Amino acid sequence: MKKIMIMLTLNMMFLLFTVIVLPQSVQAASTKPNVAILATGGTIASRGANSLSLTDYGTAAGMKHLEIQAMIDAVPEIEKFANITGEQVFNVGSSKLSISNWLTLAKRINELLASSDIDGIVVTHGTDTLEETAYFLNLVVKSDKPVVLVASMRPATGLSADGPLNLANAVALAASPEAKDKGVMVCMNDQISSAFGVTKTNTTNVATFKCPDTGYLGYMQNSKPFFVSVPLKKHTSQTEFDVSNLTTLPRVDVNYTTLGSDGILIDAAVSAGAQGIINAGVGHANMPAATMQSLKNAQKKGVVVVTASRTGSGLVTETKQFKEAGFVAAMMHNPQKARILLMLALTKTKDPAEIQRIFEEY
Ligand code: ASP
Repeated sequence: MKKIMIMLTLNMMFLLFTVIVLPQSVQAASTKPNVAILATGGTIASRGANSLSLTDYGTAAGMKHLEIQAMIDAVPEIEKFANITGEQVFNVGSSKLSISNWLTLAKRINELLASSDIDGIVVTHGTDTLEETAYFLNLVVKSDKPVVLVASMRPATGLSADGPLNLANAVALAASPEAKDKGVMVCMNDQISSAFGVTKTNTTNVATFKCPDTGYLGYMQNSKPFFVSVPLKKHTSQTEFDVSNLTTLPRVDVNYTTLGSDGILIDAAVSAGAQGIINAGVGHANMPAATMQSLKNAQKKGVVVVTASRTGSGLVTETKQFKEAGFVAAMMHNPQKARILLMLALTKTKDPAEIQRIFEEY
């Protein structure tokens, strides 16, 4: 009798475990989103000779970059927000990335996001060209799942390194349902920026990423996102650009205008095969007469000319003089982002009116 009672009690305990305890723990494991971290290099993966080497680090200082697994292992907190997988796509400073690298990265992201096994992507990157990669991906990623770019201003070995918290915040953001359909984002220094609005404004400060015209999309507090706005310009799955069959992009060069500059660099760009020129003019895209003449010559040869500004913020809208010359106005794109949009626009059309429409919609 005693034996039967013990058996019954054991059976009851097992039943309670399977009905109450087990489903909760299984549920906890299965409801965590799956986030893939794609590593491309940059200061976030860099080491310096000592903790005060804050501008001399990475491969330029003879120090090997960290690999993705070491970066993941250094921030175990990220496992709290998501099931993590890591991939080393490249491992270079972002000034060394190429158009071909961009296409590889975009295709891999589209492949991962097409799978129901992946809920969000984090890309670790250098800060120098972060805004460019973010904006490129914002135009060619074909998914509304979160894609977050993250970086650091201080190397992993630096005193008060900003990489670990930035990475934790980026993973938390990519894992968050609120981050869906916000376009590609940059998560740095507790701020969430849209790829459209963000730009690097300082050479070394951790508060380098600003959105001078749009303001931030939101903020991270205790690794939780607080959104305050939404991007209204077309992005990701809403765009007309498709890189799936591309192996290169049309050449587009940027000319930086100064007092007294001429059009020699523009002429050289055209000779080198540029299909588009972004002129980073002064103020509201103004330029010396010689620069204007070179741009007109380029335009007559079929090169698409976009007038932008070197000021760092504000709109460049159409003016009578530039419109009559057949130039396109950059709108709110800084010269480096105007270059990306023009490269992609040129994969669809060479018509300035159509390209002007693209610059107004994106
Ligand atoms: N040199 C670095 C880069 O890869 C700078 C950084 O990441 O902060 O862009």
